[in-house]
Amino acid sequence: KNGGKKETHKANFEIDLPGAEMGKVVTRFPPEPSGYLHIGHAKAAILNEYFAHNYKGQLVIRFDDTNPTKEKEEFQDSIIEDLALLGVKGEKVTFSSDYFDTMYDLAIKLIKDGNAYCDDTPLEKMREERMVGEASARRNRSVEENLHIFTEEMKNGTEEGLKNCLRAKIDYTAPNKALRDPVMYRCNLTPHHRTGTQWKMYPIYDFCVPVVDSIEGITHALRTNEYRDRNPQYQWIQKALGLRPVEIWDFGRVNFVRTLLSKRKLQWFVDKGHVANWDDPRFPTIRGVRRRGMTIEGLRNFIISQGPSKNIINMDWSTIWAMNKKVIDPVAPRFTAVYAENAVPVKLLNVPAEAYTEEKPKHKKNPEVGNKPVVYFNELLIDQADADLVEGEEITFMDWGNVIVSKVNKEGDVVKSIEANLHLEGDFRKTSKKITWLANTSDKVDVDLVDFDHLITKDKLEEEDNFEDFLTPETEFHTKAFADLNIRKLKTGDIIQFERKGYYRVDQPYKEGKPAVLFTIPDGKAVSKY
Ligand code: ATP
Ligand code: MG
Ligand code: MG
Repeated sequence: KNGGKKETHKANFEIDLPGAEMGKVVTRFPPEPSGYLHIGHAKAAILNEYFAHNYKGQLVIRFDDTNPTKEKEEFQDSIIEDLALLGVKGEKVTFSSDYFDTMYDLAIKLIKDGNAYCDDTPLEKMREERMVGEASARRNRSVEENLHIFTEEMKNGTEEGLKNCLRAKIDYTAPNKALRDPVMYRCNLTPHHRTGTQWKMYPIYDFCVPVVDSIEGITHALRTNEYRDRNPQYQWIQKALGLRPVEIWDFGRVNFVRTLLSKRKLQWFVDKGHVANWDDPRFPTIRGVRRRGMTIEGLRNFIISQGPSKNIINMDWSTIWAMNKKVIDPVAPRFTAVYAENAVPVKLLNVPAEAYTEEKPKHKKNPEVGNKPVVYFNELLIDQADADLVEGEEITFMDWGNVIVSKVNKEGDVVKSIEANLHLEGDFRKTSKKITWLANTSDKVDVDLVDFDHLITKDKLEEEDNFEDFLTPETEFHTKAFADLNIRKLKTGDIIQFERKGYYRVDQPYKEGKPAVLFTIPDGKAVSKY
């Protein structure tokens, strides 16, 4: 870090979890293993950890694995890895599926207390009844009948069981529709990635979460506030079962412009081949943004600085990338690249035709970054955009010295070559053009600079929008360039700066005969594409 000093990011929010006691707070992060973690999950994970940490309490990582249709071991493993990467450590890792027996017993208790019933009303009809506030024809089934259907038919996944679900008997006319006899259990014959075929029915999220939160000793359940309508339901379940109540604490979801944060929709992009995988640099997953050049420090700083805002925010990506730039700029080694298209050969007439090398700092302001060899030669390359020079003009070659242009060969508007004389006595403070140059020796390296656009064309997709109607036609852009010899040694994941071009992350290191592939790291400046 800059001069060894670490910038600490202060949260811009006050810590005030209601009823929180020092040393006694237990929070939980409950991902469903149905996809890779994305930047929204990172917010939830880091906030939970933040509160647990600040109250010297505990964080539980709980896999909310109650829907075998969507869940996979692969996702579970990736979540464990990504949390470790984020530096989010829980005191323990648990699984909702560890409580299937307990939840089954508690569901029976609900039935016996007259607080739940089995219902085989067809889905559409049930939805309709819930909308208008009508009672189900099955609402007054006897406890015996309900027990039979639940413990025999549903539990064994029989034909009869599959038609039924278990519903909490709360209030079918409640103004809050979440209280209109919500579903608690339903059958699913898909094998579960942990419990196999042992269960044929599974608790619904709405039943599972209040039960497991209470049993696991969670004191504060942080939830995104799209669940706010379901809070009374959560409390009803704990009360009906005589379980210890848990404080619910809402925070706003984070969204990003032109970005989908739904695992189901991201899976669609993978399945359709629009992206190669969940770590695609266009994806808002932890892996995707890392591959694009986001640092963990930048990501954490961003989330902590946003705080647990109650508003659902639609963030612009430039904010988070600008924070990332603050992390990488002081440490990213600086190298040189020249765009291959119409690169302009420059001949220095008064320099011997013999290449030589000097050690130069990799970062002018931070000597800790170390040194690098720089090759000097009488034949150079410069960018076409820098070659708009006139004969007799004095300019500066960065980190070398001034030169005086003696000849500019053009074809139309395109500069084809330049001749010049090195003029080391010249004062670089008096020139207006400081130009990047690269020795045109066989040491130079081919690089493929890749930039990306958002997958979606619309800033904010509305509920009624179909995201498939808003796909950006082209999202990947390649630019060939030549870079200095130091690029040969870079490894995957290295973050560098090409002077006067920007920041890049190495995605594929250089191999003899194959260019190094580097991804452009957005730096938060309002470039049209971002
Ligand atoms: P998806 O809709 O993509 O499946 P989810 O919310 O169902 O996402 P979970 O695995 O259940 O995914 O989420 C784990 C935790 O992350 C939950 O507490 C959830 O509220 C939180 N979370 C998910 N998305 C966001 C987001 N965009 N902003 C903040 N928190 C989020
Ligand atoms: Mg979920
Ligand atoms: Mg969801």
